[in-house]
Amino acid sequence: LNYATAQFMVSAPTLALCPDDTGAEVAFAGRSNAGKSSAINALTQQKALARTSRTPGRTQLINFFSLMNNPATRMVDLPGYGYAKVPESVKLEWQRHLSEYLLHRFSLKGVVLLMDVRHPLTEFDLTMLDVADQRGLPVHILLTKADKLKKGPASAALQKVRSQLVEWEDLVTVQLFSSLKRDGVTPLSQTLDRWLDA
Ligand code: GDP
Repeated sequence: LNYATAQFMVSAPTLALCPDDTGAEVAFAGRSNAGKSSAINALTQQKALARTSRTPGRTQLINFFSLMNNPATRMVDLPGYGYAKVPESVKLEWQRHLSEYLLHRFSLKGVVLLMDVRHPLTEFDLTMLDVADQRGLPVHILLTKADKLKKGPASAALQKVRSQLVEWEDLVTVQLFSSLKRDGVTPLSQTLDRWLDA
């Protein structure tokens, strides 16, 4: 699939206002500031398709993008979770929405879960993995900002995360990613192709 043809479709404030649950989509999730917008922009080779936000977590909209030649194929940018300045009640409410989306969205084929390579597997990340597991939904983890580490420590971080996920190894794959260096775009797009073409 040609992810460079992605174009903005619609922003949905609630699940009920999402586009029809037909066709196939992949969702991008992660803590605020994990590098999600940058990764979507790197994948689609567009500078500002997803906003890189100065105030993470402020807008809690689900953003849908479709591919020009495959309008029934969508990429979904989920709001970043865990932003410290959001009140606890809002965090919980949003986590409930996220779970609902992950559990009940029929056209969702897989989740790309982004984590800063220096701070992987936070409590929020584990909750996301747990929810995906409840439904048998595949998860592809991007350990982002890999350029912040030297090669040795980066691959050590990768191995460590893999070893912590043996429990989920049938459903979860992990790779290093750097939007800055455009490292890891190919294995990411291959994973999406696998999910969306099937
Ligand atoms: P989001 O909140 O998850 O969408 O994160 P953003 O994409 O807005 O990125 C958060 C911050 O991390 C920004 O300051 C980005 O410039 C920075 N960032 C994102 N990706 C990378 C990367 O691959 N390498 C480096 N060094 N910085 C990155």
